[in-house]
Amino acid sequence: MGSPDRSSSADPACPPAARRRPVIEVDFCTGCGLCVKACTRGCLGLVWSFATLLRPKPCDGEGACAAVCPEGLIRMAGAPVSLQPGETAP
Ligand code: SF4
Ligand code: SF4
Repeated sequence: MGSPDRSSSADPACPPAARRRPVIEVDFCTGCGLCVKACTRGCLGLVWSFATLLRPKPCDGEGACAAVCPEGLIRMAGAPVSLQPGETAP
């Protein structure tokens, strides 16, 4: 009797991959827009003058938005995402 095959990546017991996303303390946002300009992937926008993650899917999670916020309102946090075929978790 052989050992069970553990090579399958389709194991339903595997948790989803974690990827960082910006979490913004909008209560203190001044609406300066620096984080929006810093995001080259067009993920962020201002809604009623508050920075908002409008398009999370293209976010690479590297945190350029967090680095430029003069108020220190953006932190990067892990979030479960579904990987696309051929995509690997960072
Ligand atoms: S982490 Fe990078 S890609 Fe994601 S929202 Fe911030 S600047 Fe944009
Ligand atoms: S950089 Fe900071 S203060 Fe400026 S819009 Fe973005 S979250 Fe708000």
